[in-house]
Amino acid sequence: MYQPLIALLQAGYYAEPHAARYDAATMGMFVLIIVIGVIGFLVQARLQSVFRKYSKVQFPGGLTGAEVAEKMLRDNNIHNVKVTHVSGQLTDHFNPQTMTVNLSDAVYSSTSVAAAAVAAHECGHAVQHAQGYAPLVLRSQLVPVVQFASSAATWVIILGLIILATTQNEVLCWIGVGLIAMSALFSIVTLPVEYNASARALEWLQASRTIQGVQLSQAREALSWAARTYLVAALSAIASVLYYVFLILGRRND
Ligand SMILES: [Zn+2]
Repeated sequence: MYQPLIALLQAGYYAEPHAARYDAATMGMFVLIIVIGVIGFLVQARLQSVFRKYSKVQFPGGLTGAEVAEKMLRDNNIHNVKVTHVSGQLTDHFNPQTMTVNLSDAVYSSTSVAAAAVAAHECGHAVQHAQGYAPLVLRSQLVPVVQFASSAATWVIILGLIILATTQNEVLCWIGVGLIAMSALFSIVTLPVEYNASARALEWLQASRTIQGVQLSQAREALSWAARTYLVAALSAIASVLYYVFLILGRRND
């Protein structure tokens, strides 16, 4: 968060009168990023409290997270994915390289509604993988690109802004924006992947009668708060791209 702040302060020193409207837009984006950051904090806090609450709620049938996962994979005719235990908190994930559904301490052996919801969600990703769900495929292809782009972006932008200020050449700035845009694209593609995995999870939990009634609504509530964290992250990434676009436009000397 401090890097945009430094850039913003610098922008003030370089500002020319004709750039004032872009400065206002840049400032607007900066405020928006902070506001989204605060919302993100609140959503994360709500997610944690919802999960804490439903980690104490049991459901009839009493399957553990691992058993829920095994059952959902079997029901979807997936036999090449293993359910394994991974240490840590909220570390649950599906790994397409090792073909494993990794469930964390609080999920693997827990018989709670929250554990069942998380386990089914991760299996939702395994089902997406088995069916070649397009957004998941695209997301996997973007992983190495984004890893490179996000590590290079900050330096390219800083160097780009120095070159812009000294030589009026803005090419490197736009390359930097392109790199940041890759991260934004990744977080946008993540949205259908995550919402769809939760939709598959809830559909299966209901159809298989693993969880019913009030507990099903609780599972839905827990997964929808998890999805909102991805939505906030995507909005923040888009605002970051716009921030740099306006920053560069404002520093143009035309
Ligand atoms: Zn997920």
